[in-house]
Amino acid sequence: MIPFNKPFLTGKETKYIEEAVATGKISGNGVFTQKCQQFFEEKYGFKKALLTTSCTDALEMCAILADIQSGDEVIVPSYTFVSSALAFVRQNAHIVFADSYADNPNINADRIEDLITNKTKAIVIVHYAGIACDMEKILEVAEKHNIIVIEDAAQAIDSYYTFKDGTKKALGSIGHLGAFSFHETKNIIAGEGGMLTINDERFINRAEIIWEKGTNRSMFFRGEINKYGWVDTGSSFLPSEIISAFLWAQLENIDLIQEKRLAIWNKYHEGLKDNKNISLPLIPEYATNNAHMFYIVCKDLESRTQLIKKLKENDILAVFHYLSLHKSEFYAQKHKNGELLNSDHFEDCLLRLPLYYELNEEQQQKIINTINEF
Ligand SMILES: *Cc1c(COP(=O)(O)O)cnc(C)c1O
Repeated sequence: MIPFNKPFLTGKETKYIEEAVATGKISGNGVFTQKCQQFFEEKYGFKKALLTTSCTDALEMCAILADIQSGDEVIVPSYTFVSSALAFVRQNAHIVFADSYADNPNINADRIEDLITNKTKAIVIVHYAGIACDMEKILEVAEKHNIIVIEDAAQAIDSYYTFKDGTKKALGSIGHLGAFSFHETKNIIAGEGGMLTINDERFINRAEIIWEKGTNRSMFFRGEINKYGWVDTGSSFLPSEIISAFLWAQLENIDLIQEKRLAIWNKYHEGLKDNKNISLPLIPEYATNNAHMFYIVCKDLESRTQLIKKLKENDILAVFHYLSLHKSEFYAQKHKNGELLNSDHFEDCLLRLPLYYELNEEQQQKIINTINEF
């Protein structure tokens, strides 16, 4: 069976975990955590990076930092993972779901303004498949209405957006806040893991406090105060050094991992581009491709179901993705703004193909041939 995903190990993960254990300090915010955070800040231009135990956690931190209160509205795309909305629901926000473009699962930036009311506090945008949303438009609307922009960059490590003036910025460094995932299905992994990025300096001090259970312990360890205590809300959002040590082994190889994934992505694109029965991912001019995912869009639900079956008969595991959140069991009753047909279209028709470091050319050719013969 060709699996959908296979976590890639660089070989150094256990070595660094042993090193972390040998130091005798395996709780959070130690040497490996700081090395990872510094790496991210320097390579991608985040003003501040804080590792978390998941992207979901990082989004929960965003909800607290954005000061989401009962009755506040938060705009979130419907075609996304539960966490993009859940983190804000836990602060009692009302979620206003937004639709995708017809030809791209990302949030339709031209329609955001229609969803804004005087209760709108934040907008969560999701860079689906690591491909940038239209950030310039989003920032413009958000600034006009004084709304906080949170990038769910769970899939978007090592991906960029280019502004009209030519400035190129890493995803997760553009909104006020950003959230990444190092879950084993992402490009760079730590089993479970994540990161909060803070680009608006106003949030940095408070973020460190929320991260450390509502205490000013980070300031204490930097010698800025002589005792630490409970000063705010928060939780235990920081990962142990064991997780950070694992992540460090991945980061040392990020360029290699990205190069390999991109080669696989390009081979799929080359092999499937003449297939008239499916459409391929759209990469707008302003976006780069971090090869997080290769998906195809089938004509309808029936043909996708048949294709999944045919692939399975050939020992290939391809999987569909999100179910529109606005129709979910948890939120359908609370959803007020009508049908979101593009989101529903991707729910029915989008299919993700196997993409992982160790997928070899022969296996990939078999996948391409199976789809083209279908
Ligand atoms: C994977 C993912 C998440 C959740 O990440 P965790 O680290 O598992 O919490 C959130 N949003 C999107 C868009 C994702 O792809």
